[in-house]
Amino acid sequence: MSAQVLSGKELAATVRAEAAERAAALAAAGRPPKLAVVVANADESSAWYVRSIARAAEKAGIACDIVGLGAEADPGRIRDRLAELSADDTVHGVILQTPLPRGAKLEDLAGAITVGKDVDGANPLSLGRLAAGLPAFAPATAEAIVAILDHHGVDLAGLHVAVVGRSTVVGKPVAHLLLDRNATVTVCHSRTRDLAAVTAVADVVVAAAGRPGLITAEHVRTGAVVVDVGTNPTEDGGLVGDVDAIAVAEKAGALTPVPGGVGPVTTALLLRHTVRSAERG
Ligand code: NAP
Repeated sequence: MSAQVLSGKELAATVRAEAAERAAALAAAGRPPKLAVVVANADESSAWYVRSIARAAEKAGIACDIVGLGAEADPGRIRDRLAELSADDTVHGVILQTPLPRGAKLEDLAGAITVGKDVDGANPLSLGRLAAGLPAFAPATAEAIVAILDHHGVDLAGLHVAVVGRSTVVGKPVAHLLLDRNATVTVCHSRTRDLAAVTAVADVVVAAAGRPGLITAEHVRTGAVVVDVGTNPTEDGGLVGDVDAIAVAEKAGALTPVPGGVGPVTTALLLRHTVRSAERG
């Protein structure tokens, strides 16, 4: 058996095209959408990711300002810059890129991003609203996981989903989104005893640990759906997920690829969120 490949490319293209159409309408109305990405690191994979967001935004007719503050930036300065961008009427989406300088915490600084412009759901208020079932932008990666499953016709209602990872950007928000879709959710983390015993009884496994090869065939039930969120750089400049894709593909029913799975959908959803924020004015 070889698992069905749940590509994110087609869905991402559809979301990008829709964002481009709406961005053009906004521009025609004299309100061109703009995204600002604040960067305070010298990390190469982060720089690659930021460039890919900027390229996708510009292709969709969304201006993208990369606001570089340097890897030594003081947390107070980062917070002030986020507040300024949030107060700028020409900016509709604000993202704080990770990693951050030592001692700075995303959850803390992202509180300076206005909830309406928090297009990557980093402000703790956005997460709280999400948990309470109130409107808010979800972190784009968490939303991308559910969107890719929807796109490929996986009906989540009643399914047991094991999420591996409990970060505020992926694991926790996706658990809320999955609960909203009536899935039964188990959230695993580094202190989970016998991870394989938990994941191997799930209908869907979401791997978001940032550990290459963590999820092996032993962790997966025959026929299960596996979403690989991990993006781990390899020595040769490539990218691998958290799933041992070759072994797991022999057992799972379906598997998202890395690259080409959750990643492109995440970027496309950031564009959709920015346009939505601009439409609200
Ligand atoms: P993170 O903040 O480092 O969190 C990792 C989580 O995984 C933590 O909750 C940790 O548990 C858990 N974990 C680590 N080792 C584990 C193990 N051996 N067994 C079980 N759980 C384990 O990472 P993140 O920001 O959520 O990102 C996770 C992965 O997704 C990374 O590879 C990242 O690059 C990728 N990512 C991809 C996209 C995309 O668009 N495709 C976007 C964002 C992130 P503890 O809480 O106990 O430490």
